Amino acid sequence: MIPFNKPYMTGKELWYISQAHAAGHLAGDGQFTRNCSTWLENRIGCSKALLTHSCTAALEMAAILADIREGDEVIMPSYTFVSTANAFVLRGAVPVFVDVRGDTLNIDENRIEAAITPRTKAIVPVHYAGVACEMDSIMDIARRHGLLVIEDAAQGIMSTYKGRPLGSIGHLAALSFHETKNIISGEGGALLINDTSLLTRAEVIREKGTNRSQFFRGQVDKYTWVDIGSSYLPGEIIAAFLWAQMEEADAINKRRLGIWSTYHQWFRSVEENGGCRRPLIPRDCSHNAHMYYLLLPSLDKRSRFIDQLKTRGIGTVFHYVPLHSAPMGGKFGRVSGDMTHTDSLSERLVRMPLWLGLEDEQARIIQEAIIALS
Ligand SMILES: *Cc1c(COP(=O)(O)O)cnc(C)c1O
Repeated sequence: MIPFNKPYMTGKELWYISQAHAAGHLAGDGQFTRNCSTWLENRIGCSKALLTHSCTAALEMAAILADIREGDEVIMPSYTFVSTANAFVLRGAVPVFVDVRGDTLNIDENRIEAAITPRTKAIVPVHYAGVACEMDSIMDIARRHGLLVIEDAAQGIMSTYKGRPLGSIGHLAALSFHETKNIISGEGGALLINDTSLLTRAEVIREKGTNRSQFFRGQVDKYTWVDIGSSYLPGEIIAAFLWAQMEEADAINKRRLGIWSTYHQWFRSVEENGGCRRPLIPRDCSHNAHMYYLLLPSLDKRSRFIDQLKTRGIGTVFHYVPLHSAPMGGKFGRVSGDMTHTDSLSERLVRMPLWLGLEDEQARIIQEAIIALS
């Protein structure tokens, strides 16, 4: 069986974990956490990177920092993972769902303004498959309406928009190191801060609502409870694992792009025959090969495709149930405009296996897929 995903280990993870163990600092914010944060700050160019125990946690922190109150509205795509919405619903917000573009499957920036009301507080663009949203338009809309932009860059590490790394453009951004992402620590994430006015409060929220970070830097002589917050920081064992991955990030990215390109070349003729639609990468964007997806002509064809590949021992998956049609989306959210693209593509999208080590099997997967599509 060829699984859909298989976490890649660089080989140094256990060595670094043993170093954390030997150093005797196992709580958060030790040397490995500092290595990872500095790497993110240098590579992404954000003002500050705070490691969290998941992207979900980083989004929850962002919702607190955005000062979201009961009844506030947050604009986002419906075609995304639940955490994009849940983090804001936890603070009493109404997620306002906007349709995605038919090409990149990212939030349609031309539909955002129609969704804005006096209660709107933030826009959360999701960089689907590591391909950037139209950030210039989105930042311009936000500026004109006084809104905060929080990038859900869970899938976007090492991708760029007009040469700028994803996560460096919005006021805040959230990354994921979940084992299905490109750079992993099992569970893990980071909150990236570009609006420096939010930095002090972000540190407090992450440290259980205390000014402990300032205390450790010697800026205050004792630490105490100063705000709401929770425990959002990962321990050093997780950071040690993550550091092994970051050291290899360029090599990981390169190999993923190789696998992605092989799929892309081979499915070209299928696309020309109308058997599928391949991913589209806008000229302004460089991507990180987070995902290789195909859009099939219909739900029926997708089901047959998945079954046929399963019979041949190849694991594929589909996602997402659009949030506006999920039970909680109906209860807490609101739809702005029609959801034509979201409804259609969520029934037709399928993700091919993409993990390091797959290279040897890839020719067979593609051949089987092409047979199933024809
Ligand atoms: C993976 C993912 C998340 C959640 O990441 P976790 O680290 O598992 O919390 C959120 N948003 C998007 C778009 C994702 O792909």
